[in-house]
Amino acid sequence: MRGRFKKELLHKKNKLSTYDIAVLGDWVEFEIISGSVGVINSIEKRRNYLSRKAKRLRGSLKRGERIEQIIAANLDTLYVISSISFPKFNNRFIDRIIVAAESANIDLQIVINKSDLDERNLAAEWELFYSDLGYKVFITSTMSNKGIDNLKNSFKGKINLFWGQSGVGKSSLFNAMYPELNFAVGEVSEASNKGRHTTVTGIMKMVEKDTYIIDTPGIREIDPYGIKKEDLGHYFVEFAEFIHSCKFNTCIHEHEPGCAVVKAVEEGKISPERYESYLNLLNTIEDDMFY
Ligand code: GDP
Ligand code: ZN
Repeated sequence: MRGRFKKELLHKKNKLSTYDIAVLGDWVEFEIISGSVGVINSIEKRRNYLSRKAKRLRGSLKRGERIEQIIAANLDTLYVISSISFPKFNNRFIDRIIVAAESANIDLQIVINKSDLDERNLAAEWELFYSDLGYKVFITSTMSNKGIDNLKNSFKGKINLFWGQSGVGKSSLFNAMYPELNFAVGEVSEASNKGRHTTVTGIMKMVEKDTYIIDTPGIREIDPYGIKKEDLGHYFVEFAEFIHSCKFNTCIHEHEPGCAVVKAVEEGKISPERYESYLNLLNTIEDDMFY
């Protein structure tokens, strides 16, 4: 990119700055200078983008200051993958990614992998749990091939990004669906990137005409960026019908008197599991942060 253009972008809007100027999924206008060398002249406005709080920073930041790291842009669907065991099903993780997706306005779908290890039929229960909230759920196994075709079909004509903790079978799923692509990029541990703040390592591949998949092998965690405590409840879809009945309009649904969300939890209208995820996330948002 041209140096001057970089600076212009950095000071745009009220965002502090971002590490990534042009990101995976961006539409750019570029010009060839010679051979395979070119320069990006402009970036199209992003329809949406997924970002997180940058993990560690070189140099010092002011108190409460956070840097947004953009992972990818212009996404149609974000798939969050969890295995039913080894590692055990992690609904806290799923709920965190749901908040990231909801706040970025990206469609979210859930993949429950390793269903061949599901002795107690937990996958079906979790499928019901999340489909009640309106999220599409796929139950898969790369061992028995269950659900693989369904999942693959759901990608068509879209730009799809995948998120899962280490070991849930993301690489195995890619290989089961696209053996010819040899997608597994190898294990890149997030720890090895500590303190460096390189741009997000990701890869985008066209798997069929108009169908893309994006993998970010080095990144496993998302700490949603730019969400205020009083807004978090908006990204738990089932809270919506209660939020406006809270006594205080600044309610963060924690200890406030007259909180309609807490009441709904007590009455069994909101799942305690989801409320627990909500409280966990609430605690990760600092009081003094500014964006
Ligand atoms: P990743 O870290 O998410 O990319 O996970 P991998 O694809 O490397 O898989 C981690 C481990 O889980 C490997 O030993 C795989 O063989 C295993 N695995 C992947 N999918 C399944 C599955 O559907 N069932 C079972 N039982 N094991 C699986
Ligand atoms: Zn409340």
